[in-house]
Amino acid sequence: MTNQAMSDTERSRGPGQKTDYEVVVIGAGMAGMYQIKRLVDLGVKATVLEGRADLGGTWYKNRYPGCRFDSESVTYGYSFSRELLDEWHWTEKFSPQPETLRYLNHVADKFDLRRHMQFDCRVDAMSFDEQADVWTLRLQDGRELTTRFIVTALGILSIRTLPRFEGMESFEGPSFHPMDWPEGLDLAGKRVAVIGTGATAIQLIPEVAAEAAQLTVFQRRPNWAAPIHNGPISAEEMAEIRKRYDEIFANCAKSPSGFEHMPDRRGFYSVSREERVKMWDRLYEEPGFGIWLQNFAEIFMEEDANAEFSDYIADRIRQRVDDPELAEKLIPKDHGFGIQRLPLETGYFETYNRENVLLVDASETPIQQITPKGIRTTDREYEFDVMVYATGFDAFTGAFDRMDIQGTGGQKLRAKWADGPVTYLGMMAHGFPNVAFIAGPQIAATNFPRGAEVAVDWITALLEHAWKNRHTRFDVTAEAEQRWFEHVAAMYKPFLLRKAKSWITGYNSNVNGHEYGKTRYNIYNGGGPKYTAWLAQEATDDYPDIVFS
Ligand code: NAP
Repeated sequence: MTNQAMSDTERSRGPGQKTDYEVVVIGAGMAGMYQIKRLVDLGVKATVLEGRADLGGTWYKNRYPGCRFDSESVTYGYSFSRELLDEWHWTEKFSPQPETLRYLNHVADKFDLRRHMQFDCRVDAMSFDEQADVWTLRLQDGRELTTRFIVTALGILSIRTLPRFEGMESFEGPSFHPMDWPEGLDLAGKRVAVIGTGATAIQLIPEVAAEAAQLTVFQRRPNWAAPIHNGPISAEEMAEIRKRYDEIFANCAKSPSGFEHMPDRRGFYSVSREERVKMWDRLYEEPGFGIWLQNFAEIFMEEDANAEFSDYIADRIRQRVDDPELAEKLIPKDHGFGIQRLPLETGYFETYNRENVLLVDASETPIQQITPKGIRTTDREYEFDVMVYATGFDAFTGAFDRMDIQGTGGQKLRAKWADGPVTYLGMMAHGFPNVAFIAGPQIAATNFPRGAEVAVDWITALLEHAWKNRHTRFDVTAEAEQRWFEHVAAMYKPFLLRKAKSWITGYNSNVNGHEYGKTRYNIYNGGGPKYTAWLAQEATDDYPDIVFS
């Protein structure tokens, strides 16, 4: 939209109501940053409200040792600026958190985005004025702001969840979620406990073991994991990557998962066992998610294929852990490989061969209580200097639930989603007009930035459509929302992940209503290309499922 179009927008505002902003973006992480860039380029009066003290979202807050993404760095950066692609050098195949945060700051500086952001601005509540088609946002600092449109970029894993053990407040040393890792914490000579063995714990456990005097890991359920095979990217390699960027992003757009890893389409049973093992041997030694995403689809859909491959990975674990009894404890028995989100690791299993590392099976001897000195299980008391609760996140809906969001007819979003999210294309919810979600629940599960760029471009086009036609309100129909929900739910059925005891099905033992078995359909399993086609069709057909006024 040009500046002229902007003044048209000003004129088209609802019955006599002036708003502070035309668009408010909530969240200054990777997604929110690209959204504000698009809006600023259009000359729209927009701002980003960020609850934290600076930009970067996930990469601002997660600073625990070993934190890095397990997307290939070159598929993780923004694709929208050739100049940015040409000037940025990713120094590692899988960028560590400090480098990713530097990257995001570089982007913000380059495009002068910071002046459109307000930090320490947590949104507590927002309500829609149905007469004026205006949202009022109430901030934690007591301020109120008005806006016509809202784009949420809250992150899918931004709300930490702590366990609910008795006595947690009594522990005398530092205890925290990895998201709150204390700056400069020195673990040398310390006895450290890590509770949890999810992707976060699997990244930090080898680092902590190398630094601390003693590490005790409390594992309730083991997780499958495979090597990341990180390494440096030289200047020469980066030059080659730059030549290939168009191809890289085109590959990501074609793949179901938004990576360059394409599933093997030959069919599990159409190749011999010998050939399958040869392929798995190769994939296990290659960097990244290939072992998960380049594998046969049957592994993720059929119990027998899954069991055969899980046995293969179990043997890999046995080869890496010296003590056979310990190896068995580290091999999941309650779920097959790749059913939960696969963590990638560096030396995770070998860490348990160290003399200073102890694994406590918290399913055999559950944690009963946190004491001033440490942890009491049903078996004994352990003493620690530091405790890390790597116990996960209130995924997808957690960040929405923490805001009091009131749409039409006094309806609250947290009530609408009490039993699980219901959305249209993961982008909007009926009864909450003029709000679009980037990375909302029920988006396609893909490499995050690839999906976020698609979402931002779609939302921006939707807003432009509204402005062009002088609409002050859009809302998706209840029918379209129901249709999408049913499709999302149906797309869980063919996949074994429907049984996952993880955030993919909304399980979180530390959040009421998220008990195992009450499936929440958090993601769309149809893959990126199919999802993007749905979005494109809706836009090309002039938004038949959205009512404008
Ligand atoms: P998570 O996968 O949900 O793991 C939480 C762990 O804590 C589980 O092992 C869980 O055991 C355990 N736990 C929770 N409450 C407990 C309790 N009360 N007592 C004992 N154990 C308890 O969380 P996460 O590791 O933070 O990972 C979440 C997601 O973040 C990942 O799946 C991934 O998508 C993302 N992530 C990505 C990266 C990356 O890109 N490299 C890195 C880290 C995280 P149960 O399984 O028994 O519940």
